Amino acid sequence: EVETEALVGLVDGLGELVLEAGEDQLQLLDFLGRLNERLSHVQSGLESLGAQRAEGSALAEDLDQSLRRQVGDMQAAVSGAVDLESLKQSISCRLEALLDGLEEQRSQREVRDQALSASLQQLSTRIMELEREAEVCRDQLNEQRREALRDPLTGLANRTAWNSEVQQALERRRQQPGELALAVLDVDHFKQVNDRFGHLAGDKVLKLIADIIRRRMPAGGFLARYGGEEFVLLLPGYDLPGARPLIEELLSSIQSCPFHFKGERLPVTLSAGLACFGPEEEAADEVFQRADLALYRAKQLGRNRLVVDGLAES
Ligand code: GH3
Ligand code: MG
Ligand code: MG
Repeated sequence: EVETEALVGLVDGLGELVLEAGEDQLQLLDFLGRLNERLSHVQSGLESLGAQRAEGSALAEDLDQSLRRQVGDMQAAVSGAVDLESLKQSISCRLEALLDGLEEQRSQREVRDQALSASLQQLSTRIMELEREAEVCRDQLNEQRREALRDPLTGLANRTAWNSEVQQALERRRQQPGELALAVLDVDHFKQVNDRFGHLAGDKVLKLIADIIRRRMPAGGFLARYGGEEFVLLLPGYDLPGARPLIEELLSSIQSCPFHFKGERLPVTLSAGLACFGPEEEAADEVFQRADLALYRAKQLGRNRLVVDGLAES
């Protein structure tokens, strides 16, 4: 730093003066010692000023100029000094001014630091707010996603959820082969329920049927409302002989459930078709079609019954 070098040179100059003066040596040495101390003070101030200058602070620029001026004045004072006493006086004064400047710089920096930490605090508060908002958005999104997969009337999984579940079950089956049964259930003569008792009664019946089947689902099984009055079941770990009694019990529990509407007994039965995924990889649509065909035969055979795909029906 040019300023620092100038100040150090100043001390050397004073040392020469001492040799020339020869009197009051001790007093002068003492003064020079203190002067040196202060100069190191000024030097560290200059170094921090260098850092400030990098930030482009106008204030640092001001102080820099004032320092140059003070050093220049000191040099002039040294060269023009007539006696030691006046030299001491003028150098002390200028050093005071320098230290004052540094002190002012320091307090200005403190004010700036405080402002900075306040805006940092604001920023972190805002970030926390944004995080909360993001969490709310995420929850809403998850809720919407859940809603998109749910049938609003019965609360069951809808067809979209069914399709995705079937694909997942098939993927799991590729990793770990096992039995997988699929059943299609359809309410018998449901149009008549609507016609006789009204659409509202029909809705209630659908909800009750959904509740009954849901309560009787085995662990790992998946139930969905496939369409209007049609339900589908996916049964991992079940083969045809295993799934058959399960579906038959479902049908008989629906049949024996005393549905009533406005005091009148509503007969409600289901027909069902059951099929199994074969050992070879087979498209879900094909298995569904075989179950649906079995359901169609159950309807033809008089309803309120289960037909198992591939078995001779009675
Ligand atoms: P089948 O025994 O051959 O299945 O006869 P069905 O009357 O049940 O069959 P169809 O397909 O002729 O009629 C189904 C009826 O289900 C017609 C439709 O209005 C009714 N339906 C479908 N979805 C709903 C619903 O959400 N609420 C009500 N109340 N009725 C529905
Ligand atoms: Mg139908
Ligand atoms: Mg029907």
